[in-house]
Amino acid sequence: MEDNNEIFLKKKLKQQYNDDEIKKIYNGYNCKRVVTLRVNTIKSTREKIKKIFKDENIEYENVAWSNEAFIIKNKNENQLQELEIYKNGEIYLQSLSSMLPPIIMQPQANEDILDMAAAPGGKTTQIAALTENKANITACEMNNIRAEKLRFNIEKQGANSVYVMQKDSRNIDEYFSFDRILLDAPCSGSGTLNLNDVNAFKYFSPKLVEKSSKTQLTLLKKALQILKPGKELVYSTCSILACENEEIVKKALKGVNAEIVPIEFEGINDLPLLSTKLEGTLCVCPNELYEGFFIAKIRKK
Ligand code: SAM
Repeated sequence: MEDNNEIFLKKKLKQQYNDDEIKKIYNGYNCKRVVTLRVNTIKSTREKIKKIFKDENIEYENVAWSNEAFIIKNKNENQLQELEIYKNGEIYLQSLSSMLPPIIMQPQANEDILDMAAAPGGKTTQIAALTENKANITACEMNNIRAEKLRFNIEKQGANSVYVMQKDSRNIDEYFSFDRILLDAPCSGSGTLNLNDVNAFKYFSPKLVEKSSKTQLTLLKKALQILKPGKELVYSTCSILACENEEIVKKALKGVNAEIVPIEFEGINDLPLLSTKLEGTLCVCPNELYEGFFIAKIRKK
């Protein structure tokens, strides 16, 4: 039986997507996602991990747009967590969609980088790896328990260029300024729903969407304030609803001297994409390989 939360989701999707897209989204919601991981290049190499996969009879596939990403064919997350390379932080279990924002962000050594909603730290540590621990990364997280998890993952992965700031990012002092910001905002998770789970609509609700949208807008406005002029930020969510994505970006840009930077990414043709209401932004359709995800890049003039 459909509950009110699912009826609400269907209504939202119908306002935004055509029948063909909605069918694809529901196929994605119904399929089991494969296990994927990222090699932590601070502690290991792709070649070493491939050798261990061979020794452990782990079957995998490469990912066209990342040398560090692997799709695992014959092991589940629990089995991978038993491996030494997991325990010592040489690999990090991370969805493919979640690896996209740091890559699209193009972080550079020596930059002051802010990750505004950081825990458990998948993207923070990926930024540290992409910059070979040579950037100054501030990872902000307001939830106590999640901040602990963030610290644990940073330590485990040897991301020693990261400073954890346990704070509500909405209150970051305007006296700070950054060369690059990632805002991987809290969201309703409408891109990650799994309809095989009886609890799929336990958390997703109109109330959560409304609360998330409000926080997202405040956070994005703050990000635009503390980004240095001429520099770029990446806004992402694991929602596919325009009210948490395109509409937030549009509202935040109103009256601000900033513009959307069209996302250019070598793997873009490999992604299952949905239409977006804002040119230059990217929305990934959920399927067996990808979670639903939205990404926008913004430059402050
Ligand atoms: N970027 C993370 C990663 O890749 O591992 C996932 C981030 S998750 C989508 C959003 C996080 O933002 C949650 O851990 C949540 O506790 C945190 N959060 C929510 N509101 C926040 C705020 N106002 N200030 C700081 N952190 C916040």
